[in-house]
Amino acid sequence: MENIRRLFAQNRDLVADITKNDPEFFKKRAGKQEPHFLFIGCADSRVPAETLTGVAPGEMFVHRNIANQVRSVDLNLLSVLQYGVEVLDVKHVIVCGHYECGGVKAAMGDQNYGLVDHWLAGIRDTCNRHEQELQRIGDDDRRFRRVVDLNVLRQVYNLARTPIVQTAWKRGRRPMLHGMVYDIHDGLLKELVLQVDGNDRVAELLETTRRSIGD
Ligand SMILES: [Zn+2]
Repeated sequence: MENIRRLFAQNRDLVADITKNDPEFFKKRAGKQEPHFLFIGCADSRVPAETLTGVAPGEMFVHRNIANQVRSVDLNLLSVLQYGVEVLDVKHVIVCGHYECGGVKAAMGDQNYGLVDHWLAGIRDTCNRHEQELQRIGDDDRRFRRVVDLNVLRQVYNLARTPIVQTAWKRGRRPMLHGMVYDIHDGLLKELVLQVDGNDRVAELLETTRRSIGD
């Protein structure tokens, strides 16, 4: 019980801290939200979207799942994406992976975990597509990090292929898609691909990913 009570206490401290400088902070945000960013990240507790990017309440629309997957059959993700793009009109959609991702690690191994194995099938597919490149990486940790990167790039591609993003681009080149990785070891974000704002940039992304085979 003590841990739960701690959350309420910390919440009160946070509110006191914010309203000390801006007494109307919460009232101003009560009527509407106008976030510029939609963040699609991993559910991992070490990767809190708002904390690691330093945004305030109201700035970021967030969807998180195991291993930051963008799947065309995921009604939850698609609903968030549609609302973010068509109603909130977010300027940027970010896919953010992270090193030491347990979901990616599970997908790279042979052990069965049950339901989550189905969820992670896309990462296995990514590993198969890049099998030659991955086999050439002798160091286990480097290979693990490379799969985390490839997984993010694949999800940016999946995002671009959704009818929601395709329709938005036809309407006027918004939103821009971005792929990044959070390094749990030093707390820093690394950019993988930025400013994907049309199908020509998606083609470049695919080409870049292909060229990396043989690194
Ligand atoms: Zn993860």
